[in-house]
Amino acid sequence: MTTETVMDLDHKYAMTTYKRNPLEVVRAEGVRLYDPTGRDVIDFLAGVAVCAVGHSHPTYIAALTEQLHRVVHVSNLVYNAPAAKLAERLCTLSGMDRVFFTNSGAEANEAAIKLARKRGTAIAAGKTKIVSALASFHGRTIATVTAGGQPKYSEPFGPLPGGFVHVAFDDCDALSAAVNEHTAAIFLEPIQGEGGINVASDAYLIHARALADAHNALLIFDEVQTGVGRTGTLWGWQHSGVKPDVMTLAKGLGGGFPVGACLAFGDAARVFVPGDHGSTYAGNPMAATAALAVLDIIGAEGLLANAHIIGVLLQERIAHLALEFPEWIGASRGRGLMIGVNVPNGNAREIVGAALSNGLLMNATSENTLRMVPPLVLTESDVCDAMDRLKAALQQLSGISITAIRGAVSSTVSVEPGFLAGRDLLGIDDFSSRECHQILALAKRVKAGEITNTATGKVGALLFEKPSLRTKVSFLGALAKLGASGMYLGKDEVGLGKRESVEDVGRVLTRMVDVLIVRTFDPVILKGLADSCTIPVINALDDAEHPCQAFADFLTMQEHLGDITGKTLTYIGDGNNVAASLMLLAPKLGVHFRIACPDGYLPDPQVWARACELATEHGTNMERFSVSSEAAAGADAIYTDVWTSMGQEEEHARRMAAFADYTVTAEIMRLGAPGAIALHCLPAHRGDEIADDVMEGPWSRVFAQAENRLHAQQAILAAVL
Ligand code: PLP
Repeated sequence: MTTETVMDLDHKYAMTTYKRNPLEVVRAEGVRLYDPTGRDVIDFLAGVAVCAVGHSHPTYIAALTEQLHRVVHVSNLVYNAPAAKLAERLCTLSGMDRVFFTNSGAEANEAAIKLARKRGTAIAAGKTKIVSALASFHGRTIATVTAGGQPKYSEPFGPLPGGFVHVAFDDCDALSAAVNEHTAAIFLEPIQGEGGINVASDAYLIHARALADAHNALLIFDEVQTGVGRTGTLWGWQHSGVKPDVMTLAKGLGGGFPVGACLAFGDAARVFVPGDHGSTYAGNPMAATAALAVLDIIGAEGLLANAHIIGVLLQERIAHLALEFPEWIGASRGRGLMIGVNVPNGNAREIVGAALSNGLLMNATSENTLRMVPPLVLTESDVCDAMDRLKAALQQLSGISITAIRGAVSSTVSVEPGFLAGRDLLGIDDFSSRECHQILALAKRVKAGEITNTATGKVGALLFEKPSLRTKVSFLGALAKLGASGMYLGKDEVGLGKRESVEDVGRVLTRMVDVLIVRTFDPVILKGLADSCTIPVINALDDAEHPCQAFADFLTMQEHLGDITGKTLTYIGDGNNVAASLMLLAPKLGVHFRIACPDGYLPDPQVWARACELATEHGTNMERFSVSSEAAAGADAIYTDVWTSMGQEEEHARRMAAFADYTVTAEIMRLGAPGAIALHCLPAHRGDEIADDVMEGPWSRVFAQAENRLHAQQAILAAVL
């Protein structure tokens, strides 16, 4: 299955709860992930602070393989040795008394909340309040999103359970004011992870301990992210010496296998009795074996000390980058290998995108914070390699200065159907930069199924003088999806300009239909029709431009590359109508454009000049090359089209000779930026302009691009009707 198919299936069938990075991982080892082309990406995300011992650790694999052959799952109605051993190991290592196993962090926190409430109620009626911190994160279940102090995760899901009180983090006075006799528990992360790597001061944790004791409340530490060595000690609370009554774990504990745990000390360990709580899979033999293997490896390889030492080194290297790129990189914070980096210019997500293009995966917890949580097996040389990649990304970003790309509109553009009612689309320059962004935003809504039947009862006519598969089917399909009907008028049916003048055809059709979609050779005919019509006229390809194709192409780039601002599109081949629309649209969307073609096949000089003008206006680059490998170097998308277009058939032999060195091959694709994609507007001549292994290889997004014709054109029609 190609990456394109994987992405297509995911986009079509998975609920859209995640914004995924454009990376398919097929293999991983140590701190490196590999995509289907074999390109490596250094993993500073570690499955979101999960893969503590790195990927494919031999001890981990051996332990799990052996257990897999013994027994996988037995239920909690019988005993299993790995779970019993793990319970003992965790209690011994933490000084806690008992454990309840779970499958995830959220579930471990649910257990902690239930435990605290049952205990509180047993002490006094109404002693059920849970005091937690603003900006905290405790999971995605209904109770844990309520406990987490981030309304964006809880508000849409009301009514929310009551009894949760939020206070400012690391603020002793705020905590004192909130805790009283009704408090069942104070619930904190020693370092807020998802909230942006905010480290609680020792004084704050000591204060929380004292307050909990004074009010006979529990102190619960959510160590789902900080636990199991992440901060350089086995548990995050060990830095302060403040031991909680309840500690929750997950993430690193299973090293990639889903395991969570809620550990309790003292009377808290005796709250649950049979029937109070349970979980079908929790603590099954595989999960417990995974956790035991992780703890073994951490001990055997000295990973706590490693996390501490390598974490200090990493923060030093970040400080060097901060001196070099002060706009982009500010101070870092955190402990061990749980590091947050301040991004002064608020472009953390751009850094994540550029870093991935350069082979480093991490994430941004907000526009101002990068999170680095690599595997604890990270070495000094991995740090050097990763920081070199980050530096290359920052050089690219500061070179092109994202903020200098004028007119760049964020992906949150809001737009409604009909926003261009009555307008023509003869060429890209008919729409402003903002309108182009809006068309793409509308196309995304179209694709999500949000824009249907907005043109019920309307009629569209397709007036086509050239053959067509994709354009014809996609326009007729788009009209149908909008509730409009479409009719197809072929070359011999109308006799445009021969049987009847262009002007008269326009004047007649304008009285009968609501939109005219035209495919003709001559731009003068297209213009003549538009001038004689009062209805919108859409260019479905003429000799000058193919604007609808270009919208579908940039939609595909957005889907597969993320934010395309500052990305580079390289076009290799004939400077034809498709190339013209691409080079005009690229600057309007903040994309750099390169073309590689032999002399004599450059784009129309007027179009080129206009594209350069737009590039100056929007702060992007336009470059011409005669050697395709030079144009491909570092490009994010590499695009080609047939060397001989419709109507040029007699030039075929000459063109084949001229373009012989311009085939987009796998070798050319490998010169692109990591994660670069291959595009072709089809029909393709495999072996001529594009090699078969590119069409079918991991780079190809060609069929997603073809499908996007439908969505982009439906958006254009929805906009103008
Ligand atoms: N608690 C903390 C501190 C976390 O960081 C997370 C996950 O990011 C959770 C709880 C939720 O864990 P899970 O996604 O395994 O339910």
